[in-house]
Amino acid sequence: MRRIAVLTSGGDAPGMNAAIRAVVRTALEGEAEVFGVRRGYRGLIAGDFLPLGARDVGGIIQRGGTMLGSARCPEFRTPEGRTQALEALSRQGIEGLVVIGGNGSQTGAQALAATGFPVVGVASTIDNDLYGSDITIGVDTALNIALEAIDRLKVTASSHHRAFVVEVMGRDCGYPALMAGIAGGAEAITIPEVDCDPEAVADEIRRAYERGKPHALVVAAEGARYNAERLANYFKEQQARLGFELRVTILGHVQRGGAPSFADRMLATRLGAAAAQRLLDGQRGVLIGLIDNAIAVTPLDVVVASKKPLDTALLNLARVLAK
Ligand code: ADP
Repeated sequence: MRRIAVLTSGGDAPGMNAAIRAVVRTALEGEAEVFGVRRGYRGLIAGDFLPLGARDVGGIIQRGGTMLGSARCPEFRTPEGRTQALEALSRQGIEGLVVIGGNGSQTGAQALAATGFPVVGVASTIDNDLYGSDITIGVDTALNIALEAIDRLKVTASSHHRAFVVEVMGRDCGYPALMAGIAGGAEAITIPEVDCDPEAVADEIRRAYERGKPHALVVAAEGARYNAERLANYFKEQQARLGFELRVTILGHVQRGGAPSFADRMLATRLGAAAAQRLLDGQRGVLIGLIDNAIAVTPLDVVVASKKPLDTALLNLARVLAK
């Protein structure tokens, strides 16, 4: 394989740049040319390619986001869209593709791989909900950002004797909220995977008050049945019984934008390098992830058909430790 392309797709994640850099420089070592694709599958359909040499990926390892841009591209869900992408790849003489992204992006990668075109995926999403990798690119940085925000909110909440709900990202997946809740010392955590009784949340806040805590923290996933807004609405008329005044902070996209942590740079570097190497070695239709701290290669059809389990028993650990 003499010419490959690399794209980033879906939600951006800190570390994507480090992965692009590793793909490019590993492929160059294998004497292949590399093209970057701008704006994910949209750029693939449009044939928006950019030659990438070793110097073009210099100075990006420490930057969040993705130098190639990302996009959502509904056209790629259609066979016509994918045919256009294959034509663009063929016009450019590109023989293989690395797709850096999360669940949706790897579903697109699988659809392209199913046509016979060589595709290798790299596990990257701040939600950590992708089967085939214990941990995905961006998770560590996004969680560190959430924890920094939580730590700061605790300081001000203590001064004012408040309870606060912090909402973290995760539309369908509670991993970020569960982890931020445990590492942030939350009294209660709400996630999409487990039905939550707002009365139990009220009890935890009340107990924190009665134990003499200066504040109480609830971490809510945006996709939980009781996310921040719905919890605030539920308690609107009845704050007095919580003991504390309740305030809400929604972290939203600030969680994405940070400079990648050491853990994310290392993970992205290892996964990106392995993806380029495996593609050049002739593997195709697989996702590169990390399982038990070793590079793991999982067929994309298995990845997209499987759901990564969340250890919801950790909710109980959070409850025990919130004494
Ligand atoms: P993420 O990769 O972060 O989960 P999305 O779910 O938005 O992000 O998916 C990113 C892109 O992947 C979509 O805009 C679309 O172009 C492509 N994609 C998602 N699902 C499919 C699918 N079933 N078939 C083909 N392409 C898909």
